[in-house]
Amino acid sequence: MASSMKSNIALSLSYTRDPAAKVRELCNHASQVEAEPAVPARRYLRSGLEMLRMAKVYKDEGEYESAFILYMKFITLFVEKLPKHPGYKDAPQNEVANIRQKVKQVFPVAEELKGKLTVRYTEIENKRQEEERKKAEEIAKEQEKFRLEEEIRRKEEEERSRKLREQSEELWLKEQEEKFRQLQEREKEKQKDKDRRDPNILIDDLGDNRPSSGLNNEKGRVPSGSLSFVPNDLRQGQRPKLEKNLSQDYTPHIQDRPEIDRSTKPLVDQFASTTNYGGNKYGLKDVVVPRDIVIKFMNIAEQNTRKNVETCGILSGKMERGAFFITHVLVPKQTGTPDSCNAENEEDLFEFQDSNDLLSLGWIHTHPTQTAFLSSVDLHTQYPYQQLMPEAIAIVVSPKFNETGVFMLTPDIGLPEVAKCSKRGHHEHTKHPPVFETCSHARFVDDKNIVLVDLRTK
Ligand SMILES: [Zn+2]
Ligand SMILES: [Zn+2]
Repeated sequence: MASSMKSNIALSLSYTRDPAAKVRELCNHASQVEAEPAVPARRYLRSGLEMLRMAKVYKDEGEYESAFILYMKFITLFVEKLPKHPGYKDAPQNEVANIRQKVKQVFPVAEELKGKLTVRYTEIENKRQEEERKKAEEIAKEQEKFRLEEEIRRKEEEERSRKLREQSEELWLKEQEEKFRQLQEREKEKQKDKDRRDPNILIDDLGDNRPSSGLNNEKGRVPSGSLSFVPNDLRQGQRPKLEKNLSQDYTPHIQDRPEIDRSTKPLVDQFASTTNYGGNKYGLKDVVVPRDIVIKFMNIAEQNTRKNVETCGILSGKMERGAFFITHVLVPKQTGTPDSCNAENEEDLFEFQDSNDLLSLGWIHTHPTQTAFLSSVDLHTQYPYQQLMPEAIAIVVSPKFNETGVFMLTPDIGLPEVAKCSKRGHHEHTKHPPVFETCSHARFVDDKNIVLVDLRTK
């Protein structure tokens, strides 16, 4: 799945989760293919065969998404778009018939892939839901654990505070009792002194400090008011209220309890994104370019370059283990000017590619008088390559400025702009944002086996 997303379709696809909607999006994406009036109808008929070759490679590699898109593009192109092309009527009838035959064969294959993709998407969606459920459970468990720990901490704290409060109250009570006892002592002493001075009072009665009642106060000469020293609330068996200074001394400072830092709670990132489309900017497959291409092509172009005439060639190769490898540069019969180059007899080119099972991976051309960039004419040449294969590259060699560039149309700006542009020859295109850029998916390697096929001399 991850590798099958490796095409620039990732740019246009939303992240819908509904398997059927995902398949529909692929169909929509594929239906955006166009048959450019400026490109000969016959070239489309030829590149159709190449599309089928490439789609089969994708299918065999298990890249069902890419294969499905290509088959759907093929169907759209030859059922809907090409019949409206101005050159369609004049295209070789045997080739048209051949393509029609292929379309018939492609329908069931596309249907089969659609089924496979739906199953695959459903599995992915089920797995995602299962993982989400597990994650939610883990989070809930984590939160419950945290809540219980919090609860235990809170209870312990309460218990500790309660004990401290009780201790301080007991102490206070004892102090009050002691004070009261001392007070009684002093009362007693005072009474003794008084009685010693009053001979009418019997000494015996002095030890009795029972409270006097109004009904029985024969001996009740002890001032009953002495009991009024007992604090009211003590007499009523109530717990005393703490005085301010006492509470300061004995009440635990609850507000000093360390705050629980909730930020340290393990966070489970519920929405962690794992989306990753591969090593380069657009998640494209790598295009592996032997470094030798540049020098070999410059040599073959040298005669033209000296005459200030452009030379062009087709980069051809194969797909293996999820990357494209350029193995051949085919130089077709062509006519050139200082700032343009046109392939003439493309028959030989197609024949060579067909018989060697080569895919078109882009093109290469020289700029004898200018630096390396894509001119407006180059943008339009690059368009059909990249439209059929998002990885297609344009190598521009400038011997004069000793520069080599590897370019592509920007998928978001360049591709749609050139698709809509009907101008021919040199003309203006948007400068910002750029309509083309240096490829981040092209990788130069040291490989001496690149084959240059010069079809001009044939
Ligand atoms: Zn150019
Ligand atoms: Zn244009």
